[in-house]
Amino acid sequence: MPKIQCTCGNMLRMGDIPCKIQYMFISDTDFDELQGAVDAEELYLKMKMFFQCDSCSRLWVYWNGFDNPPKEYAPAID
Ligand SMILES: [Zn+2]
Repeated sequence: MPKIQCTCGNMLRMGDIPCKIQYMFISDTDFDELQGAVDAEELYLKMKMFFQCDSCSRLWVYWNGFDNPPKEYAPAID
């Protein structure tokens, strides 16, 4: 598991199980390939992950697996 130091300086705790700042998501097209009752492991393998900084709420999205660096998304200022 890689480590992320957020732009705000916070070190994200990515290794916790379960991880409170980790979110899983799946595209509609990938989901559409699944049929009937779905095995949790099969679904897990299709999902992508992002981590939310618990200090500044930035999202770090792994669009292309852990071998590639995550994309940073910062919330707009109100
Ligand atoms: Zn942060």
